Amino acid sequence: MVVDKVKVSIIKTPPRPVRGQIRRAVTRAIELCGGLPPVIKPGVTVLLKPNLVDVPKSRESGAITHPEVCRAVAELVREAGASPMIADSAGIGTDTEEVIKFMGYQELREAGFPVKDLKKDKELIVRNPGARVLPRLKVYETALKVDAIINLPVLKTHDQTEITLGLKNLKGLLADHSKKRMHRRGVFEGVPELTSFFNPCLTVLDGIYCQEGVGPVFGDPVEMDLIAASTDPLALDIIGGLIIGYRPEEVPITRSAIRLGLGAGRLSEIEVVGASLESVRRRFKRCSETEILGRELPCRLRMAEETCTGCRNTVAAVLVEMSELGLLSSLEGITIVTGCPEIRPEDPPRRVIVGRCARPLRSQGIYVDGCPPENSWLIEALLTGF
Ligand code: SF4
Repeated sequence: MVVDKVKVSIIKTPPRPVRGQIRRAVTRAIELCGGLPPVIKPGVTVLLKPNLVDVPKSRESGAITHPEVCRAVAELVREAGASPMIADSAGIGTDTEEVIKFMGYQELREAGFPVKDLKKDKELIVRNPGARVLPRLKVYETALKVDAIINLPVLKTHDQTEITLGLKNLKGLLADHSKKRMHRRGVFEGVPELTSFFNPCLTVLDGIYCQEGVGPVFGDPVEMDLIAASTDPLALDIIGGLIIGYRPEEVPITRSAIRLGLGAGRLSEIEVVGASLESVRRRFKRCSETEILGRELPCRLRMAEETCTGCRNTVAAVLVEMSELGLLSSLEGITIVTGCPEIRPEDPPRRVIVGRCARPLRSQGIYVDGCPPENSWLIEALLTGF
């Protein structure tokens, strides 16, 4: 018996595309991967989930979903007789409305498309049966009430999870309390469990302005000029990762999603349609390749061999941020410990023990819990812990 492969479409846009060009690329990408799913039908409400994580350096920094990608999908949903609802919550401590205004999402409101700040929404506690990380989670009511979810992530690297594409983007549907808990209990496994809960019917990846290095907000912009789409969220993340140089087994969230059987997890099950993978490939600089770890630092880094990229990238991102803020000198006399390495007598005595794997060493310093921990928790421990 011949089993149909899952389709992931890739469409190139012209450089610095404008509204009509983006609309054509999005329409074609959706057509090629099988069209709007049958659940998008007259009378239903569809949540469009862009990535509105933070106020970026510029509109073209590649941190936030291009509003014209959102508009194109919203128009298609409307043409199918359904009602689009664009909605997201920014990262913890960020005002979603500021992102909406900075990125031009206000223009979508003026054009009659609802754009909702989920942080103002009612929060509900629900069960996710079978989930290990968050069997009970707090989510925004709108995300529960809609009939379908279309996910609209950006193509970028991430300082804790290597890359952030469709699977990770759904974390914005969690209330802040659950976002924090997921980081404490294990984001790599928690994200695929969350994807299984929300079950997006379609993912449209904004690969126009993207980001490499210390993403997801302050990395370096890369213009890729492409749109990718699939009804299979895992297949989309696998192909998106390959486009920027990550094999699926190098991405902890993708690995967990494959283990959970979230979708097509093998390349032999996926067919790339439209532009070929080879024709759009460009290796992105990884967070771990940032120069900071090779520099002379005022603190000592004690990393175990088993320290995975989650904690490595957290430490790298925090050092980059502190360097940009001129705060590196305050790390004098501190040892940052990740994984569970041997602590040596010559290591500076003020120790910050980072991440769940280092928990056995927690009595030897200030412990920052999480898998991986939030960057802000580590910064707080370094600046105010002693
Ligand atoms: S706590 Fe351990 S598994 Fe989790 S991100 Fe850190 S090193 Fe990796």
